Amino acid sequence: MPEKIRHFNPDGIESMLTAISPPEHQLLGRSNRDRLIGITTTVPSECIFAAGLVPVDLNNIFITSPDAKEMIIRAENAGFPKNTCCWIKGIWSAAKQAGISRVIGVVQGDCSNTRALMEMFSYGGVECIPFSFPYGRERELMEVELKLLCKRLGTSIEAARDWQNRLAPARRLLREIDLRTFRNSAVTGIENHLWQVCSSDFAGDPETYESAARAFLDAVSKREAPPPFVRLAYIGVPPICSGLYDFLEEHGARIIFNEMQRQFAMPGAEERTLVEQYLDYTYPYDIFLRLEDIRREIKSRDIAGVIHYTQSFCYHQIEDCIVRDELPVPVLTLDADRPGAIDGATKTRLEAFVEMLA
Ligand code: SF4
Repeated sequence: MPEKIRHFNPDGIESMLTAISPPEHQLLGRSNRDRLIGITTTVPSECIFAAGLVPVDLNNIFITSPDAKEMIIRAENAGFPKNTCCWIKGIWSAAKQAGISRVIGVVQGDCSNTRALMEMFSYGGVECIPFSFPYGRERELMEVELKLLCKRLGTSIEAARDWQNRLAPARRLLREIDLRTFRNSAVTGIENHLWQVCSSDFAGDPETYESAARAFLDAVSKREAPPPFVRLAYIGVPPICSGLYDFLEEHGARIIFNEMQRQFAMPGAEERTLVEQYLDYTYPYDIFLRLEDIRREIKSRDIAGVIHYTQSFCYHQIEDCIVRDELPVPVLTLDADRPGAIDGATKTRLEAFVEMLA
């Protein structure tokens, strides 16, 4: 069993969260509230910025709220069933709480619940702008979808391409953060998760995000290497529960690959068109494309085991049997329903998994 990792440097997560505080702190109190546009998953943010709008990832508003548990209850009191995914309920409450009047809804390639969520938004007077990741990843259809999104937002595909270039430095820094997670272990699993998960909307302010990421990389370059640890991957949607990353670090393991979060950051070649970028993005397409990416990263990062997180009541739970069959390393499947700390049973399973791998 490797020595336990004590590696939560003060220059890490606290300063990062302060530097890129989520948009609800930066913008929701301002008079330009009508520039905000809610997103329920990663969408082509280049089109949003090109239209002079500010994306607000409603997942992040929900999960970083001290009120997250109550937000679920409020959605249930409004009629959302108890046996529906809590991310959906949290997103709905977050939009309502933040006074969001416009939302982009991904009606193909994200979540089987999005259509009903959009209907709830429309019913409550929120304008819904549809976007689809084409089934089958057809290039022509993606081109049409991007153009349509630009048109609906009041901008052009050319302006969105300019924003692709403007976001390139921030995306480059994200690749560097990811590299330093698995190459010299300077970046912890939770830091890797947070930086990448926040790239869905760049916290509403790409310039601040970029300079904070640069400062973060400067700070981590001064860190000492941690003791050896069990190298883990986290795959699946981001966890609704808290404490997973810390618990693993305390037990001699570290997540050095966050699958979907890394996809939100748009890894891959810099020199590509916007269409190519959103065709390379594995999250909205089928499990087999995701598995190719996961297998490649398991090999190149020398990963010993995989944690597959499946959200309660999510259709992705069905894919777990394929994941378990198809990955070349042991897989631990976890699920959670509501926000809150990981429970005792989950801790026991995590501990046993790490011990087995060690
Ligand atoms: S966890 Fe699954 S069901 Fe819930 S919002 Fe995400 S994709 Fe939809």
